[in-house]
Amino acid sequence: MNADGTIFARKIRKSFGPKTVLKDVDLEIASGEICCIIGPSGSGKSTLLRCINGLETVDSGILKVNGDDFGYYETDTAYHALPPKKLAQQRTRVGMVFQQFNLFPNMTARDNVMAGPVLVKRADKRQSAKQAQELLTSVGLGAFGDRYPAELSGGQQQRVAIARSLAMDPEIILFDEPTSALDPEKVGEVLGVMKELAKKGMTMVVVTHEMGFAREVADSLIFMDEGNVVERGDAREVLTNPKEPRTQAFLEQVL
Ligand code: ADP
Ligand code: MG
Repeated sequence: MNADGTIFARKIRKSFGPKTVLKDVDLEIASGEICCIIGPSGSGKSTLLRCINGLETVDSGILKVNGDDFGYYETDTAYHALPPKKLAQQRTRVGMVFQQFNLFPNMTARDNVMAGPVLVKRADKRQSAKQAQELLTSVGLGAFGDRYPAELSGGQQQRVAIARSLAMDPEIILFDEPTSALDPEKVGEVLGVMKELAKKGMTMVVVTHEMGFAREVADSLIFMDEGNVVERGDAREVLTNPKEPRTQAFLEQVL
């Protein structure tokens, strides 16, 4: 892995039309930290992840990803957007794994994993194919490189998606409800791959309803509601001893 792997947000705001979806959100995630984000549907979790990997720009506040050069936005002044080329380069350093896998349906598993390095980084094809094979093996799919997504189970597709993310050698991977679309018996195999990744020092931000994973793997936990970070702290501490009534109410529902 390369440098940094930190995320820092200070008072970031994001609105869609009249609706403010992120309301002065603060965030501090250290290199190698595993942070789980929980909260009800519509609370802004996906939007926060999309801001962190540059799929959305924040309206105001400061957002630093992988050091201080991801983006810098100031209230009261026009923000200093990154030049498109720099943004594209920064985005390669932040992987994202989606609920719906988002694999390219017309490409094999191997080609999905190679696509980023070859198309974005202009990496050598043979070298990338070799790396793809190693990554597929590391997620338990060494024998599935020639399969198309439709020929794979949901759990297998999601593991390919994780391998595809890793192929770009990111410092940070964001997971947006990575197991929510899976049949219950497939959840464990994806969480297993994520646990292995966590041990390797990857910075991971995981939006999830899997409280067992949060308790076992996460360092920190954030509870969001209506665009606010209501509570954040040590994962096990928040889960066993939530301070805010809204966190307590949410946890009573999901646990
Ligand atoms: P969560 O992931 O916690 O369910 P989201 O971040 O997806 O929440 O959404 C937060 C709110 O922002 C929701 O009310 C959603 O409808 C709204 N929203 C998200 N993306 C857009 C968009 N591109 N345009 C308009 N509204 C959006
Ligand atoms: Mg979401």
